Amino acid sequence: MSDQPDALYRLVDKGVAVRSIRALLQATSDLAPPIIEAVDAQRSGSQPSDVYDDEVARAVRAFQQRRGLIVDGMVGPHTYSALDGARWTLGDRLLSHTPGHLLQGDDVAELQERLLALGFTPDRVDGVFGVNTEKAVRHFQRGVGLGVDGSVGPETLRAFADLTRAVSGGSPHTLREQELVRRSGHSLAGRTVVLDPGHGGDETGTVAHGLTESEVMLDLARRVEGRLSAIGVTVLFTRSATTGPDELSRAMMANKSGANILLSLHCDSTDQSRASGVATFFYGQERFGAWSAVGEHLADLIQREIVARTGLTDCRSHPRSWVLLQRTQMPTVRIEAGYLSHAEDAARLADPAFRDTLAEAIVIALQRMYLGEDDTAATGVLRLGDLRAYLAT
Ligand SMILES: [Zn+2]
Repeated sequence: MSDQPDALYRLVDKGVAVRSIRALLQATSDLAPPIIEAVDAQRSGSQPSDVYDDEVARAVRAFQQRRGLIVDGMVGPHTYSALDGARWTLGDRLLSHTPGHLLQGDDVAELQERLLALGFTPDRVDGVFGVNTEKAVRHFQRGVGLGVDGSVGPETLRAFADLTRAVSGGSPHTLREQELVRRSGHSLAGRTVVLDPGHGGDETGTVAHGLTESEVMLDLARRVEGRLSAIGVTVLFTRSATTGPDELSRAMMANKSGANILLSLHCDSTDQSRASGVATFFYGQERFGAWSAVGEHLADLIQREIVARTGLTDCRSHPRSWVLLQRTQMPTVRIEAGYLSHAEDAARLADPAFRDTLAEAIVIALQRMYLGEDDTAATGVLRLGDLRAYLAT
């Protein structure tokens, strides 16, 4: 999981001082106010607030944990924009869509929640003011007879206050997503799946026990591709053997392709060599009530198939707000298939037959998702041939 470019140096390069990070952490109450420290600083003439010490790292970790970010105690671009966004509540500033520099913050998430509650669809409650949020604002403005400019100022906010009603019976976002899958039929054939082998290019991911994550995952992706192609699925890759685009570019590429599903393939590593097993991740932020229900369902299916077929330790599926999960418009699941840092996991990943088993588990899980409620076969026993026969009837 070492691919998120959350590194402090990037921000220091951009001139973001530790002082301003401290101020943001104080605003979110993750860090105590600096009263005594400031007096001390004046007295001694030093600038302790410019030091990124353990206390700051601890506060950053607490914040990351709460927001479903990678918990590394460092303030990289993602953590910084979440921190920076946390200080806004709806009405604090004018909100509009700015291509190339998307507004991001808790106020945008609040706006998206209100739009959804009123039946308008900004895609996701992700706190990012993108094209679809703007579209939803325009629809809303047209609907209530306001000037249509797609930005949220005092007039639009007043209209919200007049109209917002409580919504009960589950998140509208969740219900809409489930309906989309239900309406789209039971077959995988004819769909488009984007496969995202982690890392690539100069960035190899984990290297351990003679294996390189970027290579192993590209190989696994090709095995999945072969099986999907055979049942009529169009497969696209986010990268080749030599390229390694960043997470946002991968998400944008997938969005442009109009694919139905994205699967991101990684294996994990840790300095504790005992950690082992498989985990899956889908988009979700509890705080915003934002959740990809289909992503969760698929993550759960993949998790169960892999565990049943390989006996890898079950590290379960989890909601996260990582860039690739958040910025893709289709259900997206990231699979961390085993720990390269674990001798036994690594030995199994080195075996092509094991990778075939993994690929088979992933494809069966995908197929199960589209089979929906009719599917009663036990996890880990379906074979691709059975499925093809089932679909032919
Ligand atoms: Zn990785």
